[in-house]
Amino acid sequence: MKIAVIGAGIIGVTTAYELACDGHEVTVFERRGAAAEETSFANAGIVAPGYVTPWAAPGMPAKVLTHLLSRHAPVKIGLPLSTSDLAWMWKWYRSCRLDTYLANRARMQRLAFYSRERLHQITSDLQLEYDRSDGYLVLLRSERDSQMVQPGLQVLRQAEVTFRELNADETRKIEPALNPDTTFFGAVHLPQDEVGNCRQFALMLKNEAQRMGVTFLFNTIIQSVQRQAGIALQIGNEPNLRSFDSVVMCAGLASAQLLKPLGMNIPMAAVYGYSLSAAVREPLNAPRSAVMDERFKVAVSRLGNRIRVAGSAEIGGHIDRKRASSIQTLYKVLHDWFPGAASKVNGVQEWKGARPMLPDGPPVIGPSGIPGLWLNLGHGSSGWALSCGSARALADLAGGKAPALDFDGFDVGRLR
Ligand SMILES: Cc1cc2nc3c(=O)[nH]c(=O)nc-3n(C[C@H](O)[C@H](O)[C@H](O)COP(=O)(O)OP(=O)(O)OC[C@H]3O[C@@H](n4cnc5c(N)ncnc54)[C@H](O)[C@@H]3O)c2cc1C
Repeated sequence: MKIAVIGAGIIGVTTAYELACDGHEVTVFERRGAAAEETSFANAGIVAPGYVTPWAAPGMPAKVLTHLLSRHAPVKIGLPLSTSDLAWMWKWYRSCRLDTYLANRARMQRLAFYSRERLHQITSDLQLEYDRSDGYLVLLRSERDSQMVQPGLQVLRQAEVTFRELNADETRKIEPALNPDTTFFGAVHLPQDEVGNCRQFALMLKNEAQRMGVTFLFNTIIQSVQRQAGIALQIGNEPNLRSFDSVVMCAGLASAQLLKPLGMNIPMAAVYGYSLSAAVREPLNAPRSAVMDERFKVAVSRLGNRIRVAGSAEIGGHIDRKRASSIQTLYKVLHDWFPGAASKVNGVQEWKGARPMLPDGPPVIGPSGIPGLWLNLGHGSSGWALSCGSARALADLAGGKAPALDFDGFDVGRLR
C-alpha cells in the first residue's frame, strides 16, 4: 500500500519503520527540518514498563490541588487555562475512578512490556548504538516516601516485574556517585529497566527506514487531511491534493487540530515538562544509569557523555514560556544527588516539551473511523517507552492482522 505518515517524532519514525518492514511504500511528512525536533527531542529517556501508568489515578486531583502553592511541586497549573484545558481536566477527573484507572493501567503496561521487547529486537537486529544504560533506581528520601510507593510495588509484583527494595547503603553500591551529604531512606531498584536517548534512536531508525525505501520529506507541513479520492493530503502550498491508500496520524500534540475539520474531537492537552542536558564533567560524580527522585518526580539520567535531568508537569501556559521555578527544581534535584556531575562550561541546554496527553491514559492506536485514516497518537508521558510496540501494533492493524497482544482499549471510540 502507498502510505503517508504525518509527523517524524518517535511515534512517526517507528511507525514508518514498521510499515516499511511489512513492504509498504511509505512517505513521512514532517514540518520541522529533522526527526524528533518536538516532544521527542530531550525527554528523560526512561523505559520502565512497570512504571507506565495513567496520569488519571485515584488521589491525583487532591495531589494536584495540594501542590498548587508549593515551590518545587511536581505538578503545576499555568494560568489562564483555556476552555479546552478545562474541558480536558473535567474528562481527566472523571477518569480518575479506581475501576477506570486499573483497566487503563493494565492496558498501558501490557503495551509497555511488549514495546520494550520490540525495542530490544529492533536494536539488536539493526545493531543500533545509541546512548543507553541498564537499570533504574527510584530514590526515596524518607520512610514516608517509601510508604507512598508501596501500592505501586504491589502492582510490580502482580506484573512479575523484577525489583528490590534497598536501604541507603545498598543504593549507594548501585549508584556510587550519589551525594554522600544527602541522607535518604533507600530506593527501589529495577535492574531490567533502562534509559536511552530517544532522539538518537529516532534519528538512527529514520536512517534505517530510509535505507529500506521510506521517503522523509522535511520542512513540509500538512495543512489538512481530506476525504477526497479515498484519503488525501493538502501539503504546504502544493496546488493539488496528494492521494494515498492510507494516512497515519502521528503528529503528536498537533494531531487534534488536524483531525478537527474531519469531525473528530480528540481531547488532547499539552502537559509541559522540562529538561536540562549537559556534558558530564567528571564520570565518577555522575550517575551510571537513571534515577528518579520520587518526591519531586525528577529523573536524572546518564546518556553517554551527557547527563539529563527531566521532570515537571504543567497544564496551561505556552511552549515558549519557561517557568523559572520548574527549572530551578531540576537544578536542585541534580545538586542534591549528583553535585559536580554536570559541566556548565559548554552551557546547559534547557528544554521545554509538551506531552501529548489524553485524559484517561492509553494512546489511541488503530482505525479512525474514516476509511484510510489511521491513528497513532496521545502517548503522553510514555511515548518513548510505548513507541516500538505502538508502531508494530499499528502496522499489524493496517495490514489486516491482529496485534500480538491483547489490544482492547486503544480505540478512538472510547473517547467519544
Ligand atoms: C520533560 C519530558 C520528559 C519525558 N520523559 C519521558 C520518558 O522518560 N519516557 C517516555 O517514554 N516518554 C517520556 N516523555 C514523553 C515522550 O517524550 C512523548 O510521549 C513522545 O515524544 C511523543 O512522541 P510523538 O512522536 O507523539 O510526538 P512528537 O515528538 O511531538 O512528534 C510529532 C511530530 O509531528 C510533527 N507535526 C505536527 N504537525 C505537523 C504537520 N501539520 N505537518 C507535518 N508535521 C507535523 C511535529 O513537528 C513533530 O515532529 C517525556 C516528555 C517530556 C516533555
